[in-house]
Amino acid sequence: MADRDGKIWMDGQMVDWRDAKIHVLTHTLHYGCGAFEGVRAYKTEQGTAIFRLEEHTERLFNSAKILRMAIPFSKEEVNEAQKAVVRENQLESCYLRPLTWIGSQKLGVSPRGNQIHLMVAAWAWGAYLGEEGMQRGIRVKTSSYTRHHVNITMTQAKAVSNYSNSILANMEALDDGYDEALLLDASGFVSEGAGENVFVVKNGVVYTPDLSAGALNGITRNTIFHICQDLGIELVQKRITRDEVYIADEAFFTGTAAEVTPIRELDRIAIGAGSRGPVTEKIQKAFFDIVNGRNPKYAHWLAKV
Ligand code: PMP
Repeated sequence: MADRDGKIWMDGQMVDWRDAKIHVLTHTLHYGCGAFEGVRAYKTEQGTAIFRLEEHTERLFNSAKILRMAIPFSKEEVNEAQKAVVRENQLESCYLRPLTWIGSQKLGVSPRGNQIHLMVAAWAWGAYLGEEGMQRGIRVKTSSYTRHHVNITMTQAKAVSNYSNSILANMEALDDGYDEALLLDASGFVSEGAGENVFVVKNGVVYTPDLSAGALNGITRNTIFHICQDLGIELVQKRITRDEVYIADEAFFTGTAAEVTPIRELDRIAIGAGSRGPVTEKIQKAFFDIVNGRNPKYAHWLAKV
């Protein structure tokens, strides 16, 4: 990833991609205190636009607040930086990665006395869980790793350190021949995927875990709430058990990277017909209409670059 042309916004400057470097004694590299966002820009008929940019920037600042990090830029500057990175790299549709981290002035668990940094990179990135997965659905394994308890790490922060748990779960699932992991919370209830929120459909009603299960308050998750309302589909946030997923009619993951990805199997048990279900397909279509600028009701969610 490091060896390519292009520009990365780093602490207020556009830096050549290959020169966007940090020191090995960077605090975040050692102790994992940092926060990031995953954002997408789509090519719409009105031009390239970043989807729900303000909400992503808001969450980045909230993550930093939870981690007691003061980002030395305003939200407006961070929004502008993201637009500038897309323009500067001449990307039509892409994934954006803003990251805030603690500098290298001093080491030791206490980060105080270090500079807080921010960067934004962007690159072309297709379907996170594969094009085929988008159509046919993916195969998921219930992880042997428990998702974070809400008072161990802070689950509403998109914190760098939270992802060691996601990485373990994802590697285990892939090593065992699956496409992605589903994690349960410390009480054994369904929480979320390694990098996605999860939904199930049963008798026409859509269910997703409430945030007390330690799931991230996904922006795509919230988009699905709007879509369900528009389509007249009942949506319920509640505790969900692993076996409720086995006997659901349909299931899907959501996320900025994963978009809306159907789940066709959990632990080798077929969910419903074992393929993308009709409600999932409807929601998926509505989602792509919105992000691609084909639904005027949500034009305000698209920030032109
Ligand atoms: N949960 C986790 C652990 C994630 O990493 C993500 C991706 N950011 C999500 C849920 C989905 O969040 P969003 O829809 O805001 O991308």
